[in-house]
Parts: sequence; structure tokens; C-alpha cells
Amino acid sequence: MKAYLILLGAPGAGKGTVAKRLVDKNGWIQISTGDMLREEIAKQSPLGLEAKNYMDQGNLVPDDLIIKMLKTHLEHGENGVLLDGFPRTEAQAIALDAIFFEMGVSLDSVVNLLVPEELLLARLGGRLVCKECKASFHKLFSPPKEVGVCDHCGGTLYQRSDDNPESIQQRLKVYHASTKPLIDFYKDKSLLFEIDGSRDAEEVYFDIITLLEKRGNNA
Ligand code: AMP
Repeated sequence: MKAYLILLGAPGAGKGTVAKRLVDKNGWIQISTGDMLREEIAKQSPLGLEAKNYMDQGNLVPDDLIIKMLKTHLEHGENGVLLDGFPRTEAQAIALDAIFFEMGVSLDSVVNLLVPEELLLARLGGRLVCKECKASFHKLFSPPKEVGVCDHCGGTLYQRSDDNPESIQQRLKVYHASTKPLIDFYKDKSLLFEIDGSRDAEEVYFDIITLLEKRGNNA
């Protein structure tokens, strides 16, 4: 089933984890602008070099760079797209509408993952990410079976350079100022659905599937 969806939520809300589960079960592509930027940094491309400072300081990468990067990846989204980490500003949301219009598709639903701030802080502070498959673990809440090794692909786990206390505070501040207003933006379009993201990833995943089924997007 073809679907065009956005996952919204603060840093640490679990967007990436649940997005991976959703795309694994469907023919959709996952568009995670954060993962894409980290790949650009690893390649030391001009975009990566430009983005790195913004990211390490917990600030947003300028809209024009992000929108250009997104456009090239959306070319492969003919069977459906799950956006995670985009849009993050109203300008990005408006640009997305225009891109989808050009593609002849429209946004089906926006799922907002609700997580209390103290849990966001605890999740981000202990997060470990696989360098290869990008799976997420947590030092205390979901440790890997073997220290430093991904359970899924055997890749190396690392702590993101922006998962430090200063960047985390700044990312939350930026989220409240620039991204949270998108909740009302999509509420006004009757596309917004809220899900309790504080629970286990499997339960969150199940709730989203149920929601999509009710909306006619059989995931
Ligand atoms: P994430 O992996 O989604 O937590 O993103 C990590 C960082 O990448 C953010 O703190 C931003 O610096 C940058 N970033 C990711 N997505 C966007 C976006 N849509 N707009 C601007 N900056 C972004």
C-alpha cells in the first residue's frame, strides 16, 4: 500500500526506531534527514562539511540545503515515503507540499510522538547508534547483547556527537521554537494524530499500524 507519512516529535521521541520498523514491512522509503546528513559528514562531502557545525551545536541546518538534499532522495519514493526528521520548520513543510504536488501525490497522515521531556533527556543521554544499519540502542533501557556491537548486523555502536548535554539542551530549545509549531500547522489541515511515544517501541509501532489501517493505509 502506497502511503506518504510524516513522523513528528522531539529529539529522542523514537521517530527513527519506529520508522525503521514501518518501512521494513512496506515498500516505502525512509527519509531521515539526520541520517542522510551524517552520511554526508562521513563522506566529507561539501554538504557534510557545511552541516557538521550546525549539527554539533544542536542547531538546524539551513532550509535550502535540506530541501535540495530531500528532493534528490524523494525521486525514489514512488511506492510511499516515511519522513522522519523532516519537516522541522514551517518553510520546510511548505516546500514539502510543493514537492509532493509536483510528484502528483499527497500527504496521508502526520503522526506526532508525545514523550515527556525528562524521558527524552534520559533516552538521548544513553543512546547508542549502529554505524552500519543505524539501529538505536540504549546503555540502560535497551543495551545490546554484546557491548559496542549491533544485535542486528554486527556493526559498531557509537554515541552521536550531538548526544552531549549542551547540544541536547539546544536541540530541545530549537524543537520548541521551530518544529513544535508544525503540530498546529498539520492540525489545521486535519492530518495530525498523536501517539504516546513514551512506551516500548513495539507498542508504539502497533498503535501507528492500527491508526494507518483505520485511515485506509494498510501497513
Ligand atoms: P536527527 O538525526 O533527526 O536528530 O537530526 C540531527 C541533526 O541534523 C539536527 O539536530 C539538525 O542539526 C540536523 N537536521 C536533521 N534534519 C533536519 C532538518 N529537517 N532541518 C534542519 N536540520 C536538520
